[in-house]
Amino acid sequence: MCNSAASLRHPYAAGETPPAYREPDAGLTDAGGNGGGNGDDGGAEAARRRRKGGYPPLPEPLAVPVIDNHTHFDFREGPPVSIGDALDAAEAAGVRGAVQVGTDLASSRFTAEVVEQDRRLLGAVALHPNDAPLLAGAGTLDDALEEIERLAAGPRIRALGETGLDYFRTGEGGRGSQLASFRRHIDIAKRLGKALQIHDRDAHDDVVATLLADGAPERVVLHCFSGDAGLARICNEHGWYMSFAGTVTFRNAGNLREALLVADPALVLTETDAPFLTPHPFRGRPNAAYLVPYTVRAMAGILDTELDALCARLTANTEAVYGSWD
Ligand SMILES: [Zn+2]
Repeated sequence: MCNSAASLRHPYAAGETPPAYREPDAGLTDAGGNGGGNGDDGGAEAARRRRKGGYPPLPEPLAVPVIDNHTHFDFREGPPVSIGDALDAAEAAGVRGAVQVGTDLASSRFTAEVVEQDRRLLGAVALHPNDAPLLAGAGTLDDALEEIERLAAGPRIRALGETGLDYFRTGEGGRGSQLASFRRHIDIAKRLGKALQIHDRDAHDDVVATLLADGAPERVVLHCFSGDAGLARICNEHGWYMSFAGTVTFRNAGNLREALLVADPALVLTETDAPFLTPHPFRGRPNAAYLVPYTVRAMAGILDTELDALCARLTANTEAVYGSWD
Protein backbone atom coordinates (compact mmCIF):
# COMPACT_ATOMS: atom_id res chain seq x y z
CA MET A 1 0.00 0.00 0.00
CA CYS A 2 1.86 3.08 -1.18
CA ASN A 3 -0.89 5.66 -0.73
CA SER A 4 -0.18 8.32 1.81
CA ALA A 5 -3.19 9.82 3.54
CA ALA A 6 -2.60 13.06 1.63
CA SER A 7 -2.73 11.43 -1.79
CA LEU A 8 -5.49 9.01 -0.93
CA ARG A 9 -8.07 8.75 -3.66
CA HIS A 10 -11.63 8.31 -2.48
CA PRO A 11 -12.10 4.63 -3.31
CA TYR A 12 -15.85 5.00 -3.16
CA ALA A 13 -16.18 7.60 -5.90
CA ALA A 14 -19.51 9.30 -5.35
CA GLY A 15 -22.01 8.49 -8.03
CA GLU A 16 -20.23 5.34 -9.13
CA THR A 17 -22.28 2.20 -9.18
CA PRO A 18 -21.47 0.39 -5.93
CA PRO A 19 -20.98 -3.36 -5.74
CA ALA A 20 -23.98 -5.61 -5.65
CA TYR A 21 -24.82 -6.31 -2.06
CA ARG A 22 -25.62 -9.73 -0.77
CA GLU A 23 -29.28 -9.43 -0.02
CA PRO A 24 -30.54 -10.73 3.29
CA ASP A 25 -31.92 -14.21 2.95
CA ALA A 26 -35.06 -14.16 5.03
CA GLY A 27 -33.46 -12.28 7.85
CA LEU A 28 -29.94 -13.66 7.81
CA THR A 29 -28.68 -10.14 8.30
CA ASP A 30 -29.87 -7.13 10.15
CA ALA A 31 -30.46 -5.23 6.95
CA GLY A 32 -32.60 -2.29 7.77
CA GLY A 33 -31.24 -2.24 11.27
CA ASN A 34 -32.63 -3.04 14.61
CA GLY A 35 -34.38 0.21 14.73
CA GLY A 36 -37.84 -0.77 15.79
CA GLY A 37 -39.32 0.92 12.77
CA ASN A 38 -36.50 3.39 12.19
CA GLY A 39 -34.65 1.30 9.63
CA ASP A 40 -35.06 0.69 5.96
CA ASP A 41 -36.91 -2.37 4.81
CA GLY A 42 -33.75 -4.24 3.75
CA GLY A 43 -35.57 -5.75 0.80
CA ALA A 44 -35.38 -5.47 -2.95
CA GLU A 45 -36.59 -1.88 -2.96
CA ALA A 46 -33.85 -0.81 -0.57
CA ALA A 47 -31.28 -2.68 -2.66
CA ARG A 48 -32.44 -0.90 -5.78
CA ARG A 49 -32.10 2.48 -4.10
CA ARG A 50 -28.61 1.63 -2.83
CA ARG A 51 -27.48 0.71 -6.29
CA LYS A 52 -29.09 3.80 -7.74
CA GLY A 53 -27.60 6.27 -5.29
CA GLY A 54 -23.95 5.20 -5.12
CA TYR A 55 -21.63 5.93 -2.24
CA PRO A 56 -22.05 9.24 -0.41
CA PRO A 57 -19.29 11.86 -0.63
CA LEU A 58 -16.35 11.98 1.75
CA PRO A 59 -17.18 13.84 4.94
CA GLU A 60 -14.97 16.50 6.43
CA PRO A 61 -12.45 14.45 8.46
CA LEU A 62 -12.71 14.31 12.23
CA ALA A 63 -9.78 15.96 14.00
CA VAL A 64 -9.91 13.45 16.85
CA PRO A 65 -10.28 9.89 15.55
CA VAL A 66 -13.13 7.55 16.47
CA ILE A 67 -13.75 3.82 15.96
CA ASP A 68 -16.64 2.12 14.16
CA ASN A 69 -17.55 -0.63 16.63
CA HIS A 70 -19.92 -2.57 14.35
CA THR A 71 -19.49 -3.09 10.62
CA HIS A 72 -19.78 -5.92 8.06
CA PHE A 73 -17.01 -5.97 5.47
CA ASP A 74 -18.25 -9.27 4.08
CA PHE A 75 -21.67 -8.02 3.00
CA ARG A 76 -20.45 -7.20 -0.48
CA GLU A 77 -19.89 -9.04 -3.71
CA GLY A 78 -17.25 -8.30 -6.31
CA PRO A 79 -16.03 -5.35 -4.30
CA PRO A 80 -14.18 -2.62 -6.16
CA VAL A 81 -12.77 -1.66 -2.76
CA SER A 82 -10.39 -3.86 -0.82
CA ILE A 83 -10.69 -3.93 2.95
CA GLY A 84 -7.32 -2.16 3.11
CA ASP A 85 -8.55 0.66 0.88
CA ALA A 86 -11.83 0.88 2.80
CA LEU A 87 -9.86 1.21 6.03
CA ASP A 88 -7.56 3.80 4.43
CA ALA A 89 -10.61 5.84 3.44
CA ALA A 90 -12.01 5.50 6.95
CA GLU A 91 -8.71 6.53 8.48
CA ALA A 92 -8.50 9.57 6.22
CA ALA A 93 -11.96 10.56 7.50
CA GLY A 94 -10.85 10.19 11.12
CA VAL A 95 -12.14 6.66 11.72
CA ARG A 96 -9.03 4.83 12.81
CA GLY A 97 -10.41 1.36 13.38
CA ALA A 98 -13.42 -0.93 13.26
CA VAL A 99 -14.96 -4.05 14.72
CA GLN A 100 -15.76 -6.51 11.93
CA VAL A 101 -18.85 -8.47 12.99
CA GLY A 102 -19.79 -12.01 12.03
CA THR A 103 -23.38 -13.18 11.67
CA ASP A 104 -23.01 -16.86 10.77
CA LEU A 105 -20.25 -19.45 10.51
CA ALA A 106 -18.99 -18.23 7.14
CA SER A 107 -18.77 -14.59 8.17
CA SER A 108 -17.37 -15.47 11.58
CA ARG A 109 -14.60 -17.49 9.91
CA PHE A 110 -14.00 -14.54 7.56
CA THR A 111 -13.85 -12.26 10.61
CA ALA A 112 -11.31 -14.46 12.38
CA GLU A 113 -9.12 -14.29 9.26
CA VAL A 114 -9.26 -10.58 8.42
CA VAL A 115 -8.57 -9.36 11.95
CA GLU A 116 -5.17 -11.03 11.64
CA GLN A 117 -4.42 -9.15 8.42
CA ASP A 118 -4.94 -5.50 9.36
CA ARG A 119 -4.21 -3.94 12.74
CA ARG A 120 -7.11 -1.52 12.28
CA LEU A 121 -9.56 -4.39 12.73
CA LEU A 122 -10.80 -6.28 15.74
CA GLY A 123 -13.59 -8.82 15.48
CA ALA A 124 -16.80 -10.21 16.91
CA VAL A 125 -18.21 -13.63 16.06
CA ALA A 126 -21.69 -15.08 16.51
CA LEU A 127 -24.73 -16.66 14.98
CA HIS A 128 -27.36 -14.04 14.16
CA PRO A 129 -30.60 -14.41 16.14
CA ASN A 130 -32.57 -14.88 12.94
CA ASP A 131 -30.32 -17.81 11.96
CA ALA A 132 -30.79 -19.65 15.25
CA PRO A 133 -34.21 -21.15 14.42
CA LEU A 134 -32.97 -22.24 10.98
CA LEU A 135 -29.91 -23.95 12.45
CA ALA A 136 -31.97 -25.53 15.23
CA GLY A 137 -34.40 -26.84 12.63
CA ALA A 138 -31.52 -28.39 10.71
CA GLY A 139 -30.11 -29.91 13.88
CA THR A 140 -26.82 -28.01 13.54
CA LEU A 141 -27.15 -25.25 16.15
CA ASP A 142 -25.02 -26.96 18.82
CA ASP A 143 -22.19 -27.76 16.42
CA ALA A 144 -22.26 -24.22 15.07
CA LEU A 145 -22.08 -22.78 18.59
CA GLU A 146 -19.09 -24.96 19.34
CA GLU A 147 -17.28 -23.54 16.34
CA ILE A 148 -18.25 -19.99 17.36
CA GLU A 149 -16.68 -20.65 20.74
CA ARG A 150 -13.46 -21.87 19.11
CA LEU A 151 -13.31 -18.81 16.84
CA ALA A 152 -14.11 -16.48 19.77
CA ALA A 153 -10.98 -17.60 21.58
CA GLY A 154 -8.73 -15.74 19.11
CA PRO A 155 -6.81 -12.82 20.63
CA ARG A 156 -8.20 -10.27 18.17
CA ILE A 157 -11.77 -11.50 18.56
CA ARG A 158 -12.97 -9.32 21.41
CA ALA A 159 -16.74 -9.90 21.43
CA LEU A 160 -19.51 -12.41 20.92
CA GLY A 161 -21.85 -10.72 18.50
CA GLU A 162 -24.07 -10.07 16.97
CA THR A 163 -26.39 -12.18 19.05
CA GLY A 164 -29.62 -11.34 20.81
CA LEU A 165 -33.33 -11.41 20.07
CA ASP A 166 -35.22 -10.30 16.97
CA TYR A 167 -39.00 -10.41 17.19
CA PHE A 168 -39.34 -8.40 13.98
CA ARG A 169 -38.11 -11.13 11.66
CA THR A 170 -38.54 -14.24 13.80
CA GLY A 171 -42.06 -15.30 14.70
CA GLU A 172 -43.32 -17.01 17.84
CA GLY A 173 -42.32 -20.46 16.58
CA GLY A 174 -38.62 -19.61 16.34
CA ARG A 175 -38.25 -17.76 19.61
CA GLY A 176 -37.35 -20.72 21.79
CA SER A 177 -34.26 -21.60 19.78
CA GLN A 178 -33.41 -17.91 19.36
CA LEU A 179 -33.42 -17.47 23.13
CA ALA A 180 -31.40 -20.65 23.64
CA SER A 181 -28.78 -19.40 21.17
CA PHE A 182 -28.66 -15.97 22.85
CA ARG A 183 -28.10 -17.60 26.24
CA ARG A 184 -25.28 -19.76 24.88
CA HIS A 185 -23.56 -16.64 23.50
CA ILE A 186 -23.91 -14.94 26.89
CA ASP A 187 -22.37 -17.97 28.54
CA ILE A 188 -19.45 -18.11 26.07
CA ALA A 189 -18.76 -14.38 26.50
CA LYS A 190 -18.60 -14.79 30.26
CA ARG A 191 -16.39 -17.87 30.20
CA LEU A 192 -13.95 -16.37 27.66
CA GLY A 193 -13.99 -12.88 29.19
CA LYS A 194 -15.21 -11.28 25.95
CA ALA A 195 -17.69 -8.46 25.41
CA LEU A 196 -21.23 -9.17 24.19
CA GLN A 197 -22.70 -7.32 21.20
CA ILE A 198 -26.46 -7.51 21.26
CA HIS A 199 -28.86 -7.26 18.34
CA ASP A 200 -32.20 -6.25 19.87
CA ARG A 201 -35.04 -5.73 17.47
CA ASP A 202 -38.49 -5.23 18.96
CA ALA A 203 -37.39 -7.34 21.93
CA HIS A 204 -36.16 -4.85 24.55
CA ASP A 205 -37.96 -6.36 27.55
CA ASP A 206 -36.82 -9.91 26.90
CA VAL A 207 -33.23 -8.85 26.16
CA VAL A 208 -33.06 -7.06 29.51
CA ALA A 209 -34.81 -9.90 31.35
CA THR A 210 -32.45 -12.51 29.86
CA LEU A 211 -29.32 -10.52 30.77
CA LEU A 212 -30.56 -10.08 34.32
CA ALA A 213 -31.69 -13.70 34.72
CA ASP A 214 -28.49 -15.25 33.35
CA GLY A 215 -26.11 -12.58 34.61
CA ALA A 216 -24.64 -10.21 32.03
CA PRO A 217 -21.01 -10.40 30.91
CA GLU A 218 -18.82 -7.63 32.26
CA ARG A 219 -19.06 -5.63 29.01
CA VAL A 220 -22.36 -5.52 27.13
CA VAL A 221 -23.09 -3.41 24.04
CA LEU A 222 -26.56 -2.84 22.65
CA HIS A 223 -25.50 -2.47 19.02
CA CYS A 224 -27.55 -0.08 16.88
CA PHE A 225 -29.32 1.08 20.00
CA SER A 226 -33.02 1.20 19.19
CA GLY A 227 -34.62 1.91 22.54
CA ASP A 228 -36.00 5.05 24.11
CA ALA A 229 -34.98 7.09 27.13
CA GLY A 230 -36.43 4.42 29.41
CA LEU A 231 -34.17 1.70 28.01
CA ALA A 232 -31.20 4.11 28.17
CA ARG A 233 -31.85 4.56 31.90
CA ILE A 234 -31.86 0.77 32.35
CA CYS A 235 -28.52 0.59 30.49
CA ASN A 236 -27.12 3.38 32.68
CA GLU A 237 -28.16 1.48 35.79
CA HIS A 238 -26.42 -1.74 34.71
CA GLY A 239 -23.41 -0.20 32.97
CA TRP A 240 -24.40 -1.51 29.53
CA TYR A 241 -23.03 0.35 26.51
CA MET A 242 -25.30 1.94 23.92
CA SER A 243 -23.96 2.10 20.36
CA PHE A 244 -25.59 4.74 18.18
CA ALA A 245 -25.72 4.18 14.41
CA GLY A 246 -26.88 6.32 11.49
CA THR A 247 -30.44 5.77 12.72
CA VAL A 248 -29.91 8.52 15.31
CA THR A 249 -29.84 11.01 12.41
CA PHE A 250 -33.12 9.82 10.87
CA ARG A 251 -35.97 12.32 10.92
CA ASN A 252 -38.37 9.87 12.58
CA ALA A 253 -35.94 8.85 15.35
CA GLY A 254 -36.83 11.27 18.13
CA ASN A 255 -36.81 8.33 20.56
CA LEU A 256 -33.14 7.70 19.81
CA ARG A 257 -32.19 11.33 20.28
CA GLU A 258 -33.99 11.35 23.65
CA ALA A 259 -32.13 8.17 24.58
CA LEU A 260 -28.79 9.71 23.61
CA LEU A 261 -29.55 12.71 25.82
CA VAL A 262 -30.12 10.58 28.93
CA ALA A 263 -27.38 7.99 28.20
CA ASP A 264 -24.39 8.09 30.54
CA PRO A 265 -21.64 9.66 28.36
CA ALA A 266 -19.24 6.96 29.58
CA LEU A 267 -21.49 4.30 27.97
CA VAL A 268 -21.97 5.80 24.50
CA LEU A 269 -20.38 4.27 21.37
CA THR A 270 -20.84 4.79 17.63
CA GLU A 271 -21.05 2.46 14.64
CA THR A 272 -22.12 2.16 11.01
CA ASP A 273 -23.68 -1.31 10.78
CA ALA A 274 -22.42 -0.87 7.20
CA PRO A 275 -23.50 -1.46 4.52
CA PHE A 276 -26.85 -0.65 6.16
CA LEU A 277 -28.29 2.37 7.99
CA THR A 278 -26.51 5.14 6.13
CA PRO A 279 -26.88 8.43 8.01
CA HIS A 280 -29.08 11.28 6.88
CA PRO A 281 -29.08 12.83 4.28
CA PHE A 282 -27.74 9.75 2.46
CA ARG A 283 -30.27 7.26 3.80
CA GLY A 284 -30.85 4.42 1.32
CA ARG A 285 -27.36 4.67 -0.20
CA PRO A 286 -24.61 2.21 0.82
CA ASN A 287 -22.91 2.77 4.14
CA ALA A 288 -19.20 2.37 4.94
CA ALA A 289 -16.88 3.11 7.84
CA TYR A 290 -15.66 6.40 6.30
CA LEU A 291 -19.18 7.81 6.84
CA VAL A 292 -19.09 7.68 10.66
CA PRO A 293 -18.29 11.44 10.86
CA TYR A 294 -21.81 12.28 9.65
CA THR A 295 -23.29 10.35 12.57
CA VAL A 296 -20.80 11.69 15.13
CA ARG A 297 -21.39 15.30 14.08
CA ALA A 298 -25.14 14.74 14.45
CA MET A 299 -24.55 13.26 17.91
CA ALA A 300 -22.49 16.30 18.93
CA GLY A 301 -25.34 18.53 17.74
CA ILE A 302 -27.96 16.56 19.68
CA LEU A 303 -25.81 16.63 22.82
CA ASP A 304 -24.82 20.27 22.22
CA THR A 305 -21.27 19.25 23.01
CA GLU A 306 -17.88 20.02 21.51
CA LEU A 307 -17.05 17.61 18.65
CA ASP A 308 -13.42 16.85 19.59
CA ALA A 309 -14.35 16.10 23.19
CA LEU A 310 -17.14 13.77 22.07
CA CYS A 311 -14.77 11.93 19.70
CA ALA A 312 -12.18 11.48 22.45
CA ARG A 313 -14.88 10.15 24.76
CA LEU A 314 -16.23 7.72 22.12
CA THR A 315 -12.77 6.30 21.48
CA ALA A 316 -12.01 5.89 25.18
CA ASN A 317 -15.36 4.13 25.67
CA THR A 318 -14.75 1.85 22.67
CA GLU A 319 -11.33 0.79 23.97
CA ALA A 320 -12.83 0.22 27.41
CA VAL A 321 -15.11 -2.37 25.81
CA TYR A 322 -12.82 -4.07 23.29
CA GLY A 323 -9.32 -3.28 24.51
CA SER A 324 -6.54 -1.81 22.40
CA TRP A 325 -6.41 -2.03 18.61
CA ASP A 326 -2.61 -1.95 18.55
ZN1 LIG B 1 -24.93 -5.73 12.12
